[in-house]
Amino acid sequence: MVACGYRRVSKRRPCCICGKPDWCSTTATETISFCARSTVNADRISPHGWGVFYNYNSGLDFNRAFYRIPKRKKVDVSSLLASPAMRDRVYRKLIELSPAPLNEEIVYGRGGLAERGISDYRQYGTLPKNAFGRDILVERLVETLAKESRADPLSFSGIPGFWRDVNGSLRLWSNNDSIDNLMLIPFVGPDGLIRACQIRFMRYVRNKSGRYVWLSSSKEQTGCGPGAPLHHASPAASSNKPILVTEGALKAATTQRFLSDRYVVGNSGVATSHREIVKTARRRPLEIAFDNDSFSNPHVARALAALVRLRHSDQDCFAYNEDVRVVTWDRHIKGVDEALLAGVRLEYLTVREWLKRLPPECLEQVTHSYCRLGGKEAAGKLTSWVRLTYSRARVSM
Ligand SMILES: [Zn+2]
Repeated sequence: MVACGYRRVSKRRPCCICGKPDWCSTTATETISFCARSTVNADRISPHGWGVFYNYNSGLDFNRAFYRIPKRKKVDVSSLLASPAMRDRVYRKLIELSPAPLNEEIVYGRGGLAERGISDYRQYGTLPKNAFGRDILVERLVETLAKESRADPLSFSGIPGFWRDVNGSLRLWSNNDSIDNLMLIPFVGPDGLIRACQIRFMRYVRNKSGRYVWLSSSKEQTGCGPGAPLHHASPAASSNKPILVTEGALKAATTQRFLSDRYVVGNSGVATSHREIVKTARRRPLEIAFDNDSFSNPHVARALAALVRLRHSDQDCFAYNEDVRVVTWDRHIKGVDEALLAGVRLEYLTVREWLKRLPPECLEQVTHSYCRLGGKEAAGKLTSWVRLTYSRARVSM
């Protein structure tokens, strides 16, 4: 039977879609996840814009339990999207017309730009809280862009976040008003062009991390979503510097400021953009600086292992063996940006050292993910390290 009742995610049982311990929820039997942060590949999207994911591995017979569940559709995002140049033009102008300094909380509030040591406030935007305010902003945007290119009017089709209502009016993001102030965070590609934007809800809630969603219009018939692009913090400085990956564009900005000898990229969650990260880091050292909870959060450990595994197969394919390091710091501090701001020393672990420090429940997830994903061909370096470390851990338990 389908269970009734919902359960909020927690530190012990994080969201199985985004891996975070807050905001999201599941049904009591974990057969359906409701993710507040991600709608990428969701089975459907709730009226409030949450991603609804049916867990097909839960052992529940979905065809019987639900009548006519739509098949999980793999949307080919790229075929719907406008060119990077077009998206860049629209998003850049949007931020220029509504820059972050217009909103005090975004700059000086908790989790705001000043606290993160980011000084170039005008690179970020503020999205009006009310649908009416966004309508006005869109009007100004259309007007300004039309003045700049009389010969070439923009259709706005294929620009995530924009859509047309039944009257044909151009709209931005949701129809609903928000109670939070909304920061607009650009995600920049390797060529320096803005690919997409994330929204940060600025309300501070005790013991909860910041809430981020994509500026997306994928739930509207005439809209689309951005996928999960990788953010390049300083694309012009591309060179042979080691690649450091962290979560999110804001963390990447702070990290880049402190570690100018690294090429810093930010993904939108521990489990996203792995292919793009590996491609960017090809033939260069890769340093993984996800939130410092791979030692306590099995989901993070599993995602990190999946990234390492992809990197190792890329090393085999393209014949290179530059190092992979897991960056860690004082366990009481969560993000690499906070550690850098606090002047805490970073430690660069080899994969083997990282595995040795994992507690059994995290190590189990790593091993499990390998057995399930890898099968025979995963008899690579990491698998044997995992087995070795795991058998030792079991002996000593
Ligand atoms: Zn989630």
